[in-house]
Amino acid sequence: MSGAEGEILRIARALRASGPLCDECFGRPFAQRGRGWSNADRGRALRVLLSMSKSPSHLEDPARSGCWVCGGLFAEVDRWAERAAASAAPFEYETYLFGVTLPPRLAAAESLLEERFPTGTGESMKHAFNRELGKAFERLTGRGTVSFSAPDLTFQVDPAADALSVRAAPLFVAGRYRKLARGIPQTHWPCRACRGRGCSACGGTGKQYPESVEELIAGPFVVAARAQSARLHGAGREDIDARAPPHQGHLSLLPERAQGGQKHERVAQGRGPDDEQVH
Ligand SMILES: [Zn+2]
Ligand SMILES: [Zn+2]
Repeated sequence: MSGAEGEILRIARALRASGPLCDECFGRPFAQRGRGWSNADRGRALRVLLSMSKSPSHLEDPARSGCWVCGGLFAEVDRWAERAAASAAPFEYETYLFGVTLPPRLAAAESLLEERFPTGTGESMKHAFNRELGKAFERLTGRGTVSFSAPDLTFQVDPAADALSVRAAPLFVAGRYRKLARGIPQTHWPCRACRGRGCSACGGTGKQYPESVEELIAGPFVVAARAQSARLHGAGREDIDARAPPHQGHLSLLPERAQGGQKHERVAQGRGPDDEQVH
C-alpha cells in the first residue's frame, strides 16, 4: 500500500467515526483524487472499502438527511434541479450558472470538517453543490452548458429560505436610426411641471413630449422579445430639434416580469436593423 492510500484510509476511518455523513460529504475531502468519479462515487467506494468485513446492508447510506456536514443538502439536488427547470422554461437560453447561499450552519460545519480532517485534496461544498445541481439540471432539461463568465440564466439557490431565483442576461440590440422630424427627444422626458406624476400641463401623461425616439424604437422590440422594459443608450447627445444624421443607438431590453419577488430579464441575443427610421 502506498503512503497516499494509507493516508486516505486513515482519514476515511476517522471521517466515518465522526458522525453520520452522506456519500457526497464522505467523498468530497478526496475530490482531487482520481478522475472521472463523482464525490458520491468516492464516498461510496470508501464505504465499501471500510465495510469489506461486513454485509452489504451496512452500505445503505443512512445519512442522506442526517449528514452532520451538509444537513441533507445534497439529497435535495434533484428537487432543486426540478425547480430550476420550471423557472427556466419561459426563457430561451444556451448557458446557465448556479450559485448557492450556504446557510451559516453548513458553512461552519464545512470549516470544522476541513479543520479536523485536512486532506489537501478536497473541494468546497458550494462548488460541489453547484456542479452537481448543474449536472442534474442538464439531465432533466436535456440542454444547456455551464458558463462562468456570461451565462444566459443565473440561478441562485437559498436553502435556508427554500427559495430559488433566476435572472436572465439582458438582450442588447445595436443599431442606427434616422430622425426625419423635429420635436422628438431622444429619450423620454418627464414633464417639467409635475416631474412625471401627471398634471394638467401634460394632460396627465407625465411627459414633456408625447413621444421619444426611445419609446418609438423600443416598443416593437419589447413586444418581439416579450420584455418588460427597454432603455435606449444613445451614442452622443442630440438636440430635440435636430433632424439627425444616422445616429448610433444601443438598446437594452430589461426584466420580463417578476417571479418570487425577483426581477427577471428576458434572454436572447441578436442584432437590430442597421437603420431604424423614426418619422
Ligand atoms: Zn452531506
Ligand atoms: Zn405634468
